[in-house]
Order: sequence, then structure tokens, then C-alpha cells
Amino acid sequence: MKTVAIIPAAGSGARMGATMKKQFLLLGGKPLLAHTALNVASCKQIDAIILVAPGDELDNCQSEIVEKYKIDKVILVIEGGLTRNESVSIGFDNLPGGTDYVLVHDGARPFVTERMVNDVIALSQKYGAATVAIRVVDTLKKVKEGIIQSSMSRDDVVRIQTPQCFRRDVLQHGLATASRAGLVNTDESSIVERLGLDVHIAEGSETNIKITTYDDLKIAEALLGMYS
Ligand code: C5P
Repeated sequence: MKTVAIIPAAGSGARMGATMKKQFLLLGGKPLLAHTALNVASCKQIDAIILVAPGDELDNCQSEIVEKYKIDKVILVIEGGLTRNESVSIGFDNLPGGTDYVLVHDGARPFVTERMVNDVIALSQKYGAATVAIRVVDTLKKVKEGIIQSSMSRDDVVRIQTPQCFRRDVLQHGLATASRAGLVNTDESSIVERLGLDVHIAEGSETNIKITTYDDLKIAEALLGMYS
């Protein structure tokens, strides 16, 4: 079974407010995206990686991440689109022949582990689609204009992370359907759900954070210190 990872990393990082693109901000002296790509590349079940990057950073990605850190599994660095789903679609359109399963993992989540990758691959091989997620420990409320409207049961919800993995034809169908309908989703499991297909859940991790703000970067530095 051939599994190819698409790493969408073409966001502008606007919420970070930094002058340097988020993908290149240093975490423990190494660009954030290098951590993510190295961790995905170290997974035995991943055969190849497509990195989807901002158009003006393609050369930088190739030289400062792929070549500098010798990430040989990266077969392509390609320009992304305006939305995350578009960036993943562009990666999908460039999958090598013989790809059976597609793993999608956010470039901004550097602490992905081989256990998570193996778990979503196993579930997608059995059911067609899978994602990691974590339980919610806080109390949840619906709010409107700063006022609580009602309470929600936290037993009924999870927080979705990546990696997510799909049988190739399932993701192809989902991306095409979402694109025709003009839908923008914040992950790929949403587009597979809309097809009426079950997306199975594997255990994510509180440490599998998405770096969105400078505070996240500080937390990531602390996590790096804890695990290295
Ligand atoms: O915006 P969000 O936090 O959901 O981004 C998740 C991942 O998707 C990030 O790694 C980001 O770089 C990527 N992305 C992308 N193309 C876009 C927007 C986001 O590849 N147009």
C-alpha cells in the first residue's frame, strides 16, 4: 500500500503578525515546517511527501528545509491556493501514480508522532477515512454577542486535529464535491463527512498543537524542551 503525505503549509500566517512567514519561524533553532516535515518523513508507512507552500517561498522551502535537512521523502514542493482545501487539492492533483492512501497533516503542527500516523493509516485502510481528535475537558457553552445562550454536553464533541488519512478515491470525491459546491472547510474530514461517509477517530494529543500565535510558539519551545 502506497501512502503519500500532503503537508499544507501555504497559509499566510496572518494571525501570527510576524514579518517572517510562520513556516520559517525558528523552533529550537530549526524552521517550524522542518520539524513537521522531518517528523512525517520519519514515519515508516509514509512513502513520499508533497509540501504545499506559499508561491514566494518555494525556493526557500526547497533549500532551507528539504535540502538543508535532507528530507529525501519530499518529492515535490508546490505553490498552494487561497484556502486550505485548495492547497490540499493542488497537492492531490500532483500525487504520484500508484498512491493508495493520502495522509494530510498541517504544516503548523510540528509534534505529530508516528503512533498518530500509524493509527489514522490503519483506520483509513479499514474504513476509508480517519482523523485524530482529542476530548474536550472544558465546559462548553453556546454564546451570542458575549452572552451565554445554552450549555452543551462535552461528551458529544471532540477537537479535531491532523494527521487525517483517506483512501485516495474517498478524498478525490470529497475534494471534487466540495469544490463544485464552493464550500470552504477548515479540514478534509469535513468534506468527507458531507459525502455521508463515516470518518473514524484515533486519539490525538494535547501536545499536537497547531502553531497559530506567538504564545503557541512559546508553548512549542517549552514542549520541545520537555521531549528532547
Ligand atoms: O488556517 P489554518 O490554521 O487552518 O491552517 C492549517 C494549515 O493549512 C497550515 O499549515 C497552513 O499553512 C495551511 N494552509 C494552506 N493554504 C492556505 C491556508 C492554510 O496550506 N491557503
